[in-house]
Amino acid sequence: MNILDNQYNLHIGKQQAKLKVWRYAGLMLTYKCSAACAFCYYCCDPQQEGLMPADVALSAWEGLVRLAGKDARVHLTGGEPFLVFDRLAEITKQAHKAGLTGLEYVETNASWANQAPDIREKLNFLAGHGMEKLKISCDPFHQEFIEIQKVILLKTIAEEILGPERVMVRWQRYLQNPVNFQGLNHSEKQDVYRQALRDDPCRLTGRAAFCLADLLPQRPWTEFLRNPCSQAILGAKGVHIDPYGNVFSGQCSGLVVGNLATQKLDMMWRDFNPLACPPWKQLLTEGPAGLMDEALAQGYTRRPGYASKCHLCTDLRRFFFDKSLFWPIISPKECYHI
Ligand code: SF4
Ligand code: SF4
Repeated sequence: MNILDNQYNLHIGKQQAKLKVWRYAGLMLTYKCSAACAFCYYCCDPQQEGLMPADVALSAWEGLVRLAGKDARVHLTGGEPFLVFDRLAEITKQAHKAGLTGLEYVETNASWANQAPDIREKLNFLAGHGMEKLKISCDPFHQEFIEIQKVILLKTIAEEILGPERVMVRWQRYLQNPVNFQGLNHSEKQDVYRQALRDDPCRLTGRAAFCLADLLPQRPWTEFLRNPCSQAILGAKGVHIDPYGNVFSGQCSGLVVGNLATQKLDMMWRDFNPLACPPWKQLLTEGPAGLMDEALAQGYTRRPGYASKCHLCTDLRRFFFDKSLFWPIISPKECYHI
C-alpha cells in the first residue's frame, strides 16, 4: 500500500505526520496464561480464555504482507502460546505451507518447559516451520510465577537447537540475578515491583494501570492536558491482534481499530482515520485528558492523581467500558478487568 492510500493521510496537510504503514503484527493466540504478571498490558491469567482460529491468524498475516510486503514481521504470543501448542503448531504449519514468511519470533514465559524431550520436539517443530527466534520473558514480574530453572532449561535447549543468536532472553540480567519471591509479604513484593519499574519503566495499561500505578508518584490530571497521543497512534509500527480478531493499535491494549471478522487488515489500515470518530479524535489531538469532560458528565470520579498519561487513559477507558461507551473501540472486557 502507498502511504496516501490511508484516509487520514489523504486528508491532512503535506507537512503533518502521517499514519505509518503497519509492518508488524503480534498475534495473541489466547488470553490464557500460566502467570498473572502485575505489569501485563492485557490482564492475562489462568482464568482468561480465548483461542485464535487458524484462519484468523492467516488472514491477519496475509493482510500484513499485502500492507508491508517483504518488511512484514509477525510474532506469536499470548497469554502463553505454548498452553495452546496445538493451535500454535497449526498456525505455523499452515503459514509455512502458504509461503508466508516473516515469523520473527514466538514469545513465551517458559512455564511449560519441564521435560527436555518435549522442549526439543516443540522447538524443532517451530524452527522447521519458519520461526526465526524464540523470545523468553525473564524479569521480576514473571519471576513471581515462573521458576528460574525452567527459563534456564528452555534457554539452554533453545540455544542448542537454534543457536544463541536466535534466542532472546528479556532481560538477561534477571537470569543471572533472579528475584526470589518465596516468603515475601505484600509490602516486600511492592518494593520489588517499585524497583523493577524504576529499572525498566513500563506503559501503564491493562493490569499495570490497575495494580502498579499506585506505587509510583502521582500527578494531577491537569498535568496531562494538551498531551496528544499522535506519536503513539500515527507512529505505531504495527498492531496486536487478540484471539477474537480485535486489532489494537501498537501497544495501546484495549483500543480497537477494527475487527478481522468484518474487515481485512490491509483494508482496516486504509480506512483508519482517527480524526473521524471519538475517542480516537480526542486521543490524537489532545490525549486522554481530552476525554475528561465526557467522563465527568457520565459520573466519573476523578482520582487525586495519575502516574502517567497511559494510567489516566486506562482509568478513563475502564470507566467508559463499564458504561458501554465508545464500544467497540474501547473493548474487550479482557483488557479492563482483572
Ligand atoms: S506478561 Fe506475559 S507471561 Fe505475564 S501474564 Fe501477561 S501474557 Fe502472561
Ligand atoms: S495515553 Fe492511551 S492512547 Fe495514548 S499512548 Fe497511552 S494508552 Fe495509548
